[in-house]
Amino acid sequence: MGAFGDRLALELSSAMPGLRGRLVANAAMSDLTWFRVGGPAEVLFSPVDEDDLALFLSRCSLDVPLTIVGVGSNLLVRDGGIAGVVIRLGGKAFGSIDIAPDGALSAGAAALDMRVAKMAAEAGRGGLAFFAGIPGSVGGALSMNAGAHGVETGQVLMRARGLTRSGELHDLTSLEMNFSYRRSEPAIDLIYTSAVFATTASTIAGERAAISEIEAVRASTQPVKTRTGGSTFKNPPGYSAWKLIDEAGLRGFRSGGAHMSQLHTNFVINDEGATAFDIESLGETVRARVFAQSGIKLEWEIKRIGEFRDGQSLK
Ligand SMILES: Cc1cc2nc3c(=O)[nH]c(=O)nc-3n(C[C@H](O)[C@H](O)[C@H](O)COP(=O)(O)OP(=O)(O)OC[C@H]3O[C@@H](n4cnc5c(N)ncnc54)[C@H](O)[C@@H]3O)c2cc1C
Repeated sequence: MGAFGDRLALELSSAMPGLRGRLVANAAMSDLTWFRVGGPAEVLFSPVDEDDLALFLSRCSLDVPLTIVGVGSNLLVRDGGIAGVVIRLGGKAFGSIDIAPDGALSAGAAALDMRVAKMAAEAGRGGLAFFAGIPGSVGGALSMNAGAHGVETGQVLMRARGLTRSGELHDLTSLEMNFSYRRSEPAIDLIYTSAVFATTASTIAGERAAISEIEAVRASTQPVKTRTGGSTFKNPPGYSAWKLIDEAGLRGFRSGGAHMSQLHTNFVINDEGATAFDIESLGETVRARVFAQSGIKLEWEIKRIGEFRDGQSLK
């Protein structure tokens, strides 16, 4: 992809005078995901603000594939890398968090969920403590309807704001986001730039305690400080993915440089220099074995993006 990345970056920058954000050819995606694997992005674009992103989108040919990423806590980038442009919003322009007098909390799409929880807590506002357990960004939470401890993003969202592929700005209500379990299907596809969340009246002490409890539960039940993508598979209706994996005898099951966590069987851990292909193959083996054992087909929760390297193919 090397020469292609340089050429595309040059083509884009010459077609977009006035663009302020950085275009980086052949950018290492392995530095931008929790799994720390995967090939490069042909071009990585980091807009400096919403206007810059709108300019880029309005001038970028529809032939150029675009991929938007957050902080990569739910992503597996394949070893062949990602063709076209990967857009990643930086925390400087897209990371602000503000709380209005009525308690509505506005956050940029690159703000970390954890910071959203903590800012709400320090303002004595409730309802957002669940975000303390999710290591993603607001953009990822909107896209994935991220949830934990019985609350999902869709339940607290007032509106999301974003840009279409051609650079038009839109606001969507929570209803228009069409949320379901770990999914949003809005009528218009957007690159989210910010969101507004509802909060409830609470106390600083109460919210701090709620966050501490969430952090303690996480630390004891999940391998949070490892190279992982969180829950690998969605819970099938009426079942827990971790239990199905456990019942299939796959706790600790290893293949290539990765294994199913001992602590939480639905987490894949990259602990021995796995490739993305190792991780995806392990996941597919787990799906096949769970199906053979239970007749239930696990659906991937982790987003697998990009291309296989030459010679790689899943059976
Ligand atoms: C240790 C660990 C624990 C986890 N626990 C939970 C949990 O309890 N609950 C839970 O729901 N998830 C959990 N996750 C998964 C993950 O943190 C969430 O899915 C999170 O919302 C992903 O956010 P992100 O910024 O990392 O997005 P990424 O992983 O970078 O991307 C995920 C998806 O969001 C899209 N996206 C990202 N930003 C934008 C944007 N600005 N506009 C449009 N689309 C965008 C991407 O295109 C992609 O499809 C966990 C992950 C880890 C590693």
